[in-house]
Amino acid sequence: MVDLELDGVRREYAGTAALADVSLSVAEGEFFTLVGPSGCGKTTTLRLVAGLESPDAGAVRFGGEDVRGVPTEDRDVGVVFQNYALFPHMSVRENVAYGLQFDGPPAGTTKEERVDELLSMVNLEGMGGRDPDELSGGQQQRVALARALAPEPRVLLLDEPMSALDARLREQLRRSVKAIQRELDVTTLYVTHDQEEALAVSDRVAVMNAGRVEQVGTPQAIYRRPETAFVASFVGDNNVFEAEVLASPPESTAARVADAEFELPPVDAAAGETVRFCVRPERLSVADPPSPDAPSPPNRLTVDVETAEFLGDTTRLYCRWAGRRIVVRTPDVPDADRLDVEFEPAAATFF
Ligand code: ATP
Repeated sequence: MVDLELDGVRREYAGTAALADVSLSVAEGEFFTLVGPSGCGKTTTLRLVAGLESPDAGAVRFGGEDVRGVPTEDRDVGVVFQNYALFPHMSVRENVAYGLQFDGPPAGTTKEERVDELLSMVNLEGMGGRDPDELSGGQQQRVALARALAPEPRVLLLDEPMSALDARLREQLRRSVKAIQRELDVTTLYVTHDQEEALAVSDRVAVMNAGRVEQVGTPQAIYRRPETAFVASFVGDNNVFEAEVLASPPESTAARVADAEFELPPVDAAAGETVRFCVRPERLSVADPPSPDAPSPPNRLTVDVETAEFLGDTTRLYCRWAGRRIVVRTPDVPDADRLDVEFEPAAATFF
């Protein structure tokens, strides 16, 4: 069931569209993430849902009802922002209890019991008496999360809640957020510019660019089947090629990039047309060079290695081929300036 919906939403600032025409629907209990580069309109979208902004056109609906004019405190949303926004003069307990000021504790519990329950949910038992400045950044964000969840909101809105934390804390907190979200089954709209984080935590992801939604899908679909050049290169490393179709019989496509010939999956394009496709770095594998008298096999690139990054389980190679940058991710640890790499036709995705 659709819980939260944006329908043709537009929002302008001084005549410039921060959101051009955004339509999204988030199902009940879903963990839905907006990801995109700085300035693409993620925060504006979240603020529209929170009721901190109004759309210039289009509608925001909760459970099918237009919420135009409904103030934030009546929207049944819990919000956590990037900066902790805890009240410094209140203890941790008081900060969490503040979340209950409008609605009180859920039926059958006292305020004190509810605060204890929330502190335990975010792993801060025993820390209720502390002041916010006696907590680490990650702990402060847990308090902010507990405060937002206190009144059992219908929708949880999280705007880059982890961006001020270091990498390890970020990973820990994102696991907790995900586990809590699952346990409570609360519809969640999460904003991040970090595509890896978006893939890791979400049921579905909307990739945004310049005030528009480029693609909505599961993390797997976004990663494996990008539909636009922007999504292909924003989400994860990717190798994007522009190719001239040589022949396109039903079962496969023959295409040329620079001087190399490629065998690709079938595509709806005629000989002479230009198509674009991408191949993920981990789908390029290091191959033995062909013997000098044999013809070069298809889908084979001889690349110049510029930089190699050892990542533990794999090595990432930044290479050049025919004037292009090629990224290869391989379990091998190659030690060569020049390598042959190849890919299976099925590794190529058209967009
Ligand atoms: P970031 O990741 O940097 O927070 P974002 O994707 O959340 O970016 P928004 O904050 O939604 O992007 O901003 C979208 C666009 O709208 C930007 O160009 C921004 O400069 C502009 N904008 C946002 N808020 C205002 C405002 N109050 N007044 C004028 N312009 C604004």
